[in-house]
Amino acid sequence: MSDMSRVRLDDELNIDALPPGEISRLRIEIGHNALGAAMRLPVLVARGRKPGPVFGVTAAVHGDEINGIPVIHRLFNKLNPQNMRGALVAVLVVNLPGFHEHERQFSDRRDLNHLMPGRSDGNEAQLYAWRFMHRVARHFDFLVDMHTASFGRINSLYVRADMTHEATARIAYQLEPEIIVHNPAHDGTLRGAVRALGIPSVTLEIGNPLRFQQRYIERSLAGLRAVLSDCGVTPRRKPLKPKETVLCASSKWLYTDHGGLLTVLPGVTDFVRAGEVVGTLSNIFGDAIATYSAQSDGVVIGKSVNPVGRSGARILHLGEVVSQEHPFFRRETESVGAANNPGGQ
Ligand SMILES: [Zn+2]
Repeated sequence: MSDMSRVRLDDELNIDALPPGEISRLRIEIGHNALGAAMRLPVLVARGRKPGPVFGVTAAVHGDEINGIPVIHRLFNKLNPQNMRGALVAVLVVNLPGFHEHERQFSDRRDLNHLMPGRSDGNEAQLYAWRFMHRVARHFDFLVDMHTASFGRINSLYVRADMTHEATARIAYQLEPEIIVHNPAHDGTLRGAVRALGIPSVTLEIGNPLRFQQRYIERSLAGLRAVLSDCGVTPRRKPLKPKETVLCASSKWLYTDHGGLLTVLPGVTDFVRAGEVVGTLSNIFGDAIATYSAQSDGVVIGKSVNPVGRSGARILHLGEVVSQEHPFFRRETESVGAANNPGGQ
């Protein structure tokens, strides 16, 4: 069994070189291992017949965060590039060494999502990040970067986005996740590096690491289909019944102040009240030694499920819930395609 006969080997994403109206499979070279074998990113491109924006979707920047991969598979299964504009580019695995090792980090134990856009003269991870930005991500006009919770934690289906940027906010709303958290793009993340190039960009957090979770995969897929249509890449579609999305103006983690065995009480997407006990800690002999309460009202975006914690262990990730009237969450009516036409492909 091999897919190699239908795969193009490229040094850089070059959409103009791909056949219009077709789906292409690429392996884009990003470096070499010590034996001199090329490391190649697996990439799917659906190029439309007409010019239009290049929509980028990325998965597994953290190598154990894999729910985005089946989202891409299923998205491409139902695409018809004959009636598309521009292109949809999907990088199935960004962090190749991490994916091989079922690990979040890159091969040198560094976090790729803390050192974007990398350096052309940098160390292993910096060079890899720079090449990813230079050879792939800079060609995008939009980006949805798909992650999950980290090892030992679970997440809701939520989006992190700078909701004060109109085109970025539009993508976040169209994805219709369970929760949207306003979060300006930080330096070092792929989302931040891409935003610094002027490209609307959001992070989509899809549940838990090292799992394929059908319910979240299906909801992410429906959201991405809506976004692609809204950006003009795929034909207009009838809007589905809107789903409920909780809006958060900010979020913060609650931590333990002691080591021990932790139980976190609420589930993801649960609402908690200020003062409500959300976690209990026992010592190794089974005696209760501490309880932890929410400091404010909020929604549980993510939580720890690993009971074994040192002092400062993460308990839960609490979002500050606000209404649509909040200044960060002004709804716009114009489509992204019309409001921010990136022009050409
Ligand atoms: Zn991640």
